[in-house]
Amino acid sequence: MASKAVRGMDRKERKRQPGPIRAENAFMQAAIDEALEGIGRGHGGPFGCVIVRDGEIVGRGHNRVLAEHDATAHGEVNAIRDAGRRLGTHDLRGCELYTTGEPCPMCLCACLWANIDRVWYGCSIADNARIGFRDEAFDARFGSRESFGDYLKETDREACLELFDAYLGTGPETY
Ligand SMILES: [Zn+2]
Repeated sequence: MASKAVRGMDRKERKRQPGPIRAENAFMQAAIDEALEGIGRGHGGPFGCVIVRDGEIVGRGHNRVLAEHDATAHGEVNAIRDAGRRLGTHDLRGCELYTTGEPCPMCLCACLWANIDRVWYGCSIADNARIGFRDEAFDARFGSRESFGDYLKETDREACLELFDAYLGTGPETY
């Protein structure tokens, strides 16, 4: 199963560890909480996102692909739209984005269009693929991410892997 591949740990063993998912970074924690809300409501995949400016959350979103019947309703896109509405601008320079899964090519490009300064992600593209999403296959068509350098930074992968496991435990519909 994906979970075993992701963590290299027995699934039953992990299920014995109760308690909430705790991230080191408070903004990634908010992104995880956003994702959990979406999972609980059956909105879509385990992808939550917050946008931060000057230490404050100015936008939030989670994956709503199933809820909206919209293939583009990814957490990052929804958070960018939310921040734009709240701040009254399409220009999000000075903002950093936190997302539970490394952005797909569509969302990464949306971050560039929005002038987001930096993207922090928990699980990698490969992790996204291991729980049944097509990110890696799509990404391969666009080539390497090396050119993004410091623009994409990983944080709290362990906590986000727990989130992915919680999602898998719901027996979700993949798309
Ligand atoms: Zn995306």
